[in-house]
Amino acid sequence: MPQPKNAMEIFQLLDKSNCRECGEKTCLAFAGAVFMGQRKLSKCPRLDRETIERFSGESEFQNAFVMSRDEYLTKLKAEIANIDLGAAAKRVGARWSGGKLTLKILGKAFSVDTKGNLFTDIHINPWVAIPFFNYVLYGKGSPVLGSWVSFRELKDGKERYSLFQKRCEEPMKRVADAYTDLFDDMVQLLNAKQVEKQFESDISVVLHPLPKVPIMICYWCPEDGLESSLNVFFDEATDENLDIGSVFTLGVGLAQMFQKLSLRHGVPGAVSSL
Ligand code: SF4
Repeated sequence: MPQPKNAMEIFQLLDKSNCRECGEKTCLAFAGAVFMGQRKLSKCPRLDRETIERFSGESEFQNAFVMSRDEYLTKLKAEIANIDLGAAAKRVGARWSGGKLTLKILGKAFSVDTKGNLFTDIHINPWVAIPFFNYVLYGKGSPVLGSWVSFRELKDGKERYSLFQKRCEEPMKRVADAYTDLFDDMVQLLNAKQVEKQFESDISVVLHPLPKVPIMICYWCPEDGLESSLNVFFDEATDENLDIGSVFTLGVGLAQMFQKLSLRHGVPGAVSSL
């Protein structure tokens, strides 16, 4: 059974019409989601049965994800070079100056020029760069609505929710359980804000990994023999501003960042493999 080595190999199988029938904004976004194990190849109604069967076992694609990210980023970068970046800045509410679009990621300035080159003071992780590109390319810039929904309530979130729990919410909960300063450090280091407690949680913190894609993390402390719990919520306007694959990537990336923070603060017990 052939196994695509990267997202671009999956992309080559598709008809590249960007028809959106699969629920993704582009064929490229769909290819990235299949490769990461978030979507099934069979969800593209334009693929013939033979191709789907030939490339079955797609949930294993993510084993080689590290190899593919650079190619995926290269493709997104090329797409940036083909758009009117000044108009995109206006659309998503970013600053446009000196041929660069700039917006804030977790409080830090993040820019891209008309060739798709990125500029920032922080380390450029693919988990930030991929959503950033997709936000600039396809986000509508819709205003934040101020009402919170879970990942599974987002468009096409339901079928990916169990994976999101496994890769984002569960690792975050483990970190929060062991690393008691986590939420204070989010405020100090990541420009997060503690907000009025939501959904009867003990702690509610809002982060802005992209300006119009706020994420709220709610944590319930253990109590009376009950385990702690943690859920991640998104603004209701998220579907307008970012594709579900990028939302997933942001959540998983944040969980990995919290694990690294906990290691840096000498709390290794918070980390287990994702
Ligand atoms: S349904 Fe298939 S062809 Fe249409 S956008 Fe999705 S992947 Fe592309």
